[in-house]
Amino acid sequence: MTIIPNSLALIGNTPLVRLNGPSEESGCTILGKCEFTNPGGSVKDRPALYIVEEAEEQGLLKPGGTIVEGTAGNTGIGLALVANAKGYKAIIVMPDTQSKEKMDTLRALGARLVLVPAAPYSSPCHFVHQSRRIAEETDNALWANQFDNIANRRAHIKTTAREIWEQTDGEVNGFTCAVGTGGTLAGVAMGLKEFSEDVRIALSDPHGAALYEYYAHGELKSEGSSVAEGIGQGRVTANLEGAPIDTQFRISDAEGLAWVHRMLSEEGLCLGLSSGINIAGAVALAKQMGPGKTIVTILCDSGLRYLSTLYNADWLAEKGLAVPPWLEEGD
Ligand code: PMP
Repeated sequence: MTIIPNSLALIGNTPLVRLNGPSEESGCTILGKCEFTNPGGSVKDRPALYIVEEAEEQGLLKPGGTIVEGTAGNTGIGLALVANAKGYKAIIVMPDTQSKEKMDTLRALGARLVLVPAAPYSSPCHFVHQSRRIAEETDNALWANQFDNIANRRAHIKTTAREIWEQTDGEVNGFTCAVGTGGTLAGVAMGLKEFSEDVRIALSDPHGAALYEYYAHGELKSEGSSVAEGIGQGRVTANLEGAPIDTQFRISDAEGLAWVHRMLSEEGLCLGLSSGINIAGAVALAKQMGPGKTIVTILCDSGLRYLSTLYNADWLAEKGLAVPPWLEEGD
């Protein structure tokens, strides 16, 4: 019998799928790490588990305690699941601009959801600062601090990077993804470079984020905006510090969304927009590296988390984004 001992042991060991359209278009083998198969539905289950277990080991989280975090939603969902499985409570602070599906999921999981208006990081009202304050005011609480707690990237060094290396039999030539906290990019980059210095690492940055300019020219500067949830960073987080990034691409929402809709209609993969931006970045990296290479990227979460946005004709039209033919009115 092959029995998984508990729900938390379902986190990680995600499959790697060949993305056929992107591979054909670029002449490389482009592979997607199916993070949407984690129990909480996203790549963020991995750091959620590491953050909680490292805090337990350090005596920072005691029985009956409360986990508090500021999040675009996916880390909150991961933390709420881990909290339920381990007997903790969860308080999740989230900007009210994020998808309704993520809010409903957090409520369904029993987390206390605190919605706050979107604010710049420099404002005390920013969701990260509000979550830190709530943690300080709550008895026996842990502030998960995913942006600057490097247990986040350790999860990816120890699990995601190793899995990618083993699943490709060490034949991976390039890796790229976008950055929210930077845990995935930095952790996979550091982990893969431990196996081979030759793996080329690329940042795929959405518009409105400042890291493309930072890695290209050493200056944190942003341009434009993006509707992608969970990514788009304006500073070098502790997780990103020292990350071995070799090259960088700036990817528009239109480009990422075109891949999201193509992946659904041509390959039956229903993805969120950060996955589409990652795929566009993987195609750009493949074109830069030349044909025949193996490039891996992250399929961060499922499109089912964005039915009311990325797969909704009215919402797409309102944002000035292309509506795929099968969603057009009357179809
Ligand atoms: N995509 C989605 C949908 C996310 O929720 C996140 C996490 N905020 C990311 C990508 C980025 O991951 P990381 O925090 O590891 O940079």
